[in-house]
Amino acid sequence: MFWSQKPEPKPTIYTEETCNSCGERARRPSEAGDNVYEQGRTCTKCGSSTVVTAVYGEYPPEKPKA
Ligand SMILES: [Zn+2]
Repeated sequence: MFWSQKPEPKPTIYTEETCNSCGERARRPSEAGDNVYEQGRTCTKCGSSTVVTAVYGEYPPEKPKA
């Protein structure tokens, strides 16, 4: 019998976009096709175009052991 392995926590991938106009930085869950230095979505603040400045994974915070 195999002993059960602790499931590996999966990181959440985030895309960070920086506005070309006002410098506003926005973070959202990453989607397929998001690449650094490519054009992002429009700025939520001023409506200008943004550029993807970072794509990174973040692990959920570990739950304290009881
Ligand atoms: Zn902006």
